[in-house]
Amino acid sequence: MISAALAYGDGVAESYREECNQELSQSEKIFRQLEKLDGAKTIESVLLPMNEMERILGNSASKASLFYNVHPSQEVRDIAENQQKEITKLYNEISLSRPLYETCKAVDVSQADAQTKRYLEYTLRDFRRSGVDQPDKVLKRIKELNNELTELDQEFSLNVRQDVRSITLTSTNDLAGLPEDYIAAHQLDENGEIKITTDYPDYIPFSRYAKNDAARLALYKEFKNRANPTNDNVLKDILIKRYELANLIGYKNYAEYETETKMVKNVPTVLKFIDDVEAGARPRAEAEYAILLKRLQQIDPAATEVGDWQKTYLEELIREEQFNVDAKKLRSYFQFGHVRDGIFKLTTALYGVTFRPWNTPVWDPSVQAYELLDGDTVIGRFYLDLHPRENKYKHAAHFDMQAGLSGRQLPISALICNFPGKDDETELMEHAQVETFLHEFGHLLHHLFSGNQQWIRFSGIATERDFVEAPSQMLEEWVWNAETLKMLAMNKEGQTIPPEMVKSMVAAKEFGTGLFVTHQMFYAATSMAIYDCDPVDLNLAKTMDGLQDKYSMFKHVPDTHMYANFGHLVGYGSMYCTYMWSQVIAKDMFTRFDKEGMLNKKTAGDYRTFVLSPGGSKDAADLVEDFLGRPYSFAPFAAWLNQPVEVK
Ligand SMILES: [Zn+2]
Repeated sequence: MISAALAYGDGVAESYREECNQELSQSEKIFRQLEKLDGAKTIESVLLPMNEMERILGNSASKASLFYNVHPSQEVRDIAENQQKEITKLYNEISLSRPLYETCKAVDVSQADAQTKRYLEYTLRDFRRSGVDQPDKVLKRIKELNNELTELDQEFSLNVRQDVRSITLTSTNDLAGLPEDYIAAHQLDENGEIKITTDYPDYIPFSRYAKNDAARLALYKEFKNRANPTNDNVLKDILIKRYELANLIGYKNYAEYETETKMVKNVPTVLKFIDDVEAGARPRAEAEYAILLKRLQQIDPAATEVGDWQKTYLEELIREEQFNVDAKKLRSYFQFGHVRDGIFKLTTALYGVTFRPWNTPVWDPSVQAYELLDGDTVIGRFYLDLHPRENKYKHAAHFDMQAGLSGRQLPISALICNFPGKDDETELMEHAQVETFLHEFGHLLHHLFSGNQQWIRFSGIATERDFVEAPSQMLEEWVWNAETLKMLAMNKEGQTIPPEMVKSMVAAKEFGTGLFVTHQMFYAATSMAIYDCDPVDLNLAKTMDGLQDKYSMFKHVPDTHMYANFGHLVGYGSMYCTYMWSQVIAKDMFTRFDKEGMLNKKTAGDYRTFVLSPGGSKDAADLVEDFLGRPYSFAPFAAWLNQPVEVK
């Protein structure tokens, strides 16, 4: 039994609480023993117990995170929430324990295998990065800063969440262009007014479809001013404290500290990446901008430039007029049950692995459980919890439940989504949902395929954060290709999706890519600029405006203060480039499939062996090089961007 919380009936919460306490006390016991270890410091006496402690804590944290997000029992969810806090506290204590650090440092691995050497190297690196080797006074300040930063992070997002703004319309004519259900939900109130708020369900459709340009601009300004000016100081404070923290630990600034453990490795690589990608995307961005401007001039002949608030609206208009994809017809090809089975078939076609039902308790009757087999051997297990229900996580994500450890435990995953098809598997999905399904399934495969490690910290998706998304981003290609999409897409009449339909879907999707990429580089440059400096004299507004002029095709709209509500400047820190970076790596890895065939077993086998199976046991750059036979390159991404933009 993986967890008491998987059973039904009375006493489940009590047993789960007991399980949580046990896991905490077992791991804490190992930790305390290691702290006061007297005898010889060896792999057996230090590193193996550490591995065991990390295994227990990792299992406990993974289960708690999953149950907190999906468990039907409020009591179990509460226990899970508390367990997450307890584990974080213990992790923090472990990472700042000087006795444990000294114990680890004393272990001699000079005669050990490469993986053991790597394990100790990474463990010591993490210790050093926590500041544990600093003098007492400095260490005290580091702890203070960590606590203050946790609070400031929460304050920043709370300010954004709480500041819901709105515009007031006085006529339903102002809703022209919007879908019928949106108009029905936004009728005049008793005062003859319509309120449109900056919440996403209001804001996104309005900026995409509303014909009224002045109203769209007004709402855009409100949206880009959320939490302004409150968050100006909060963000400034975060920048200053992160800078101090990095300094205390021995880094020039926070950007240098953050990049060290990523695939990009250092600040200059990021800066060059941003400029290279921007330069690669610029011709396409200019061509697309010209198309938007031409379309705008049909509405307003006097227009000389396209504003940031007009971009989504015009792009949508052009997509509709140029690449008309019949959304209703498209949906008819995606029956939930067929899509799920198709994803299994696709996985079997690529990797030769098979699936069979796993007879095991589940937390809700709608959850399905499977085993993944390589030949006759079970190599991993997973749960599919794919339909919405009350009190369940609202998005789509892969949760690991247990990382695999060679000879000790198999990897276990859970896929948590909110798709149709709960009671009737012929219910239809959107193409975007199919893409999400495959993307998350890509994370699941990565976790299961890499579950045969000697050291738990390298097991699962334990790779650099800026590489984590690349395998799943690459896998998305399979739902944009007519041949492979056929495996997932079949209507009730048994017909597969017509290739012409896929072709126009791809064209519609790719329109606007140049504009998107250049604008993303503006964000990436901002995120790097504000952390790659001493922030004491930093002027956030000025810095951001300057970078927008340099990178984006769209000028800064006066009187807007986006840095006050752009949570990624806090969440991603200096590494907003992560998303595009992994996209570039995904395009690069895809070149082999593109050339050798998207269903080529040899290519897929190499990919599994060289990229997925190693987990975190090798640097991501080496994994990619092992698979491609050369170092990673931006060229395939640039070539993809430089296809001609065709419109009628
Ligand atoms: Zn993902």
